[in-house]
Amino acid sequence: MRFVTDVMLGRLSRWLRLLGFDTTSGLRDDLRLLQTAAAEGRTLLTRDRALIEQAERMGITCIYISSSQLQDQIVELFESLGSSSIDLDPAKSRCPMCNGELKAVPREQLPDQVPEKVLRYHSEFYVCAACGKIYWMGRHWENIEKKISDANAMIKEKHVGPARPSSTGHDDATRDL
Ligand SMILES: [Zn+2]
Repeated sequence: MRFVTDVMLGRLSRWLRLLGFDTTSGLRDDLRLLQTAAAEGRTLLTRDRALIEQAERMGITCIYISSSQLQDQIVELFESLGSSSIDLDPAKSRCPMCNGELKAVPREQLPDQVPEKVLRYHSEFYVCAACGKIYWMGRHWENIEKKISDANAMIKEKHVGPARPSSTGHDDATRDL
């Protein structure tokens, strides 16, 4: 599934790319959003009810996102899609900044492009085929995993109700996600 998002959903767009979804964002004009969705077969995600109505009239697949909070937006979207869980797999991630495809690259090929300390402590590296940005699974990736696992818990809770008490990259690029 591919998406096109309105400018109010910039942060969600970066997260969708991390989750492996081809996502176009940054289009400010409603007509361009609608045209891109129609021409490229993308599902339109928007917080604008008027735009949803317009898309529906044109037969364009669209999903209204009501929340302004990232975590709730992720849960809302995946529930609309009928998904019971969200998979985060760095091998499938796209570049959060430009939507380019990420390719695994051996550490040996990066000595001049990554600080020595990072090279020493990390083994998995990815480079964006479009913008050339290099990503690795640093501390920010752990935060991303935590957010996705929290979102999965929220989805699960909505499906089965709360659990009973007894059953109880690139670092620079992902910093402001
Ligand atoms: Zn990129």
